[in-house]
Amino acid sequence: TQVYLNGEFLPPDQARVSVFDRGFIFGDGVYEVIPVFGGRLFRLSHHLARLDASLSAIRLRNPHTPMEWNDIFTRLLAAGSGDQSIYLQVTRGVAPRDHAFPPNITPTVFAYAQPLKYSPPEHLAQGVAAVTTADIRWQRCDIKAIALLANALLRQQAIDQGAAEAILVRDGVVTEGAASNIFIVKNGRLVTAPKGPFILPGITRDLVVEIAHAKGIPCDELPVKIEMLSSADEVWLTSSTKEILPITRIDGKPVGDGKPGPMHAKMFALYKEYKQAFIRG
Ligand code: PLP
Repeated sequence: TQVYLNGEFLPPDQARVSVFDRGFIFGDGVYEVIPVFGGRLFRLSHHLARLDASLSAIRLRNPHTPMEWNDIFTRLLAAGSGDQSIYLQVTRGVAPRDHAFPPNITPTVFAYAQPLKYSPPEHLAQGVAAVTTADIRWQRCDIKAIALLANALLRQQAIDQGAAEAILVRDGVVTEGAASNIFIVKNGRLVTAPKGPFILPGITRDLVVEIAHAKGIPCDELPVKIEMLSSADEVWLTSSTKEILPITRIDGKPVGDGKPGPMHAKMFALYKEYKQAFIRG
């Protein structure tokens, strides 16, 4: 199995990046994770649009056209089988250490494919635990930046407390998870945070909102106050690799009756239907 690095396909142990790469030194880069279901890149155009947004936010040019990206992904995926995911990252490139952007620098482009690790079935059947914690990240969480120190600290804090995810709270409002978006269900309505600088615009989040609108399920994009979280009937997390998972315990207390709810069952069935239709083409 090979990785892509700056125009070459190489075995991972032959792919070398300079210690002066600004990704390594400053976390100066952005990334994407694209799920591949039934051999097809799921919501590819959405992921490439978000990549464009991340790159322009950090003032980098996209090094590849959509067609070129597609060719790279196709070659990486050919070696694998079953459901996979693509990881790609673009850093500003290699230069002597200086915060200011160096002139005429070439970006470092890296991508690989790996098998998709689905959540264990009991996570879907019973839901997962989460803890709430202060959102200590910066004010541009809409950029899919490789600098994930805060996210890593927050996720580990959740793990240390026996939970699967940290639900992040800024000024009394739920922003998102450490690596997921958050939905609540109250009296048959979905609520999720509106897009803005404090959340990553999740591709799965957008799909859930889209499905809700298409199927007449009420869905609001409004600030989720912490009291709304604690009184919710259901809470879910969404991400490309975790899909839609019920959160059934928050800070040690049950959500609703402590079991995955009927709205989750409905939305997950609609999501799987959408995915199957996509796989069939
Ligand atoms: N929010 C954060 C901070 C993330 O890292 C992720 C990705 O894993 C998400 C949300 C979910 O985004 P997506 O549905 O595009 O995977």
